[in-house]
Amino acid sequence: MRIRYFDHAATTNVKEEVVKEMLPYFSIEYGNASSLYSLGRTSKKAIEEARKRVAKALHAKPKEIYFTSCGSEADNLALKGIAYQYKNKGKHIITSKIEHPAILETCKTLEKQGYEITYLNVDENGFISLSELEFSIREDTILISIMFANNEIGTIQPIEQIGQIAKKHNVLFHTDSVQAVGNVKIDVEAMNIDLLSMSAHKFYGPKGVGALYVREGVEFERIQDGGHQEKNKRAGTENVAGIVGLGKAIELANENLEKYEEKLTTLRDYYFSQIEEKISNYKINGDKEKRLPGNTNISFEGIHGEELLLKLDEKGICASAGSACSSGTPSPSHVLLAIGLKPELAYGSLRITLGEENTKEDIDFLIEQLAEIIPKLRK
Ligand SMILES: *Cc1c(COP(=O)(O)O)cnc(C)c1O
Repeated sequence: MRIRYFDHAATTNVKEEVVKEMLPYFSIEYGNASSLYSLGRTSKKAIEEARKRVAKALHAKPKEIYFTSCGSEADNLALKGIAYQYKNKGKHIITSKIEHPAILETCKTLEKQGYEITYLNVDENGFISLSELEFSIREDTILISIMFANNEIGTIQPIEQIGQIAKKHNVLFHTDSVQAVGNVKIDVEAMNIDLLSMSAHKFYGPKGVGALYVREGVEFERIQDGGHQEKNKRAGTENVAGIVGLGKAIELANENLEKYEEKLTTLRDYYFSQIEEKISNYKINGDKEKRLPGNTNISFEGIHGEELLLKLDEKGICASAGSACSSGTPSPSHVLLAIGLKPELAYGSLRITLGEENTKEDIDFLIEQLAEIIPKLRK
């Protein structure tokens, strides 16, 4: 059976060019980047080349990039690293109710350690309120952490304005950009971003490697102890092949950004128009325009998302009911509840996230299946 993959927010395939650049670092170029002989220096050079590529894509400096083992670790490092560093200045952090578990669970841990967290509400389209944000800033606020784009409903926050507010009040600004990197233009200078997390496997790079951007001059404590790798900020022998893969993937993504955005936006809007034509009683979750180019999230009345997924799987269709991270949990998505959905409707949601290899024909096939399955499930 032919597989049609519509779950690019969960992960993506590794591009062939990326695999090709990675391969030597598994075998012939196996040196430890910390070693002084030439085999080690080759690995070190490859890491520094990747760092340059990441910096270029974000409009940052290479020395502002720290490699990690994934997006979750980058989020942990950003929040805990800043919280521990600035604990004498204050223990208040502002975030939102719709963050990824990598942020929300880290916040819970910090709460247990005596930090106070404000979780901003979002409106029916998933946007935080800039005035509520500004109103929440206190004397002891050390960090604002708001995701660039949501992994379930795709809503893109007003990042530049958040950055301006943070700067005006002299508070650091971190953004979980795991869904945004490779999908939308990011400029840490223009957007006043102080810290930013990313993960290679969300933009056609390998799994198990991420990066954190930290603005020059911003101090942070390391959370993993050991050797002196990554300027003493992240102990552990570097995943050289993975880092090389991340560097190549972000370079490719940035070179093709506009074309990719345009292609996915067209496909996404075609999917919405076909849903409108062929299916009744549904609600589109997230903003119609300010959303990730490849993201769609729709709640269908009177069905259970997981049942729909099983039926789609029988047809070779890979999709998601909420987010991959929360599937298997019985409670409805915290994001869908935060935008005001009733639990029944939140349970009936289908997330289709498009990517490079998807075509109009794929969408037609998907719509055909949905038009057949959904009325049956409703009976
Ligand atoms: C996938 C994702 C993460 C976690 O990244 P991993 O590399 O899988 O740990 C964090 N935040 C968001 C918004 C994500 O989509």
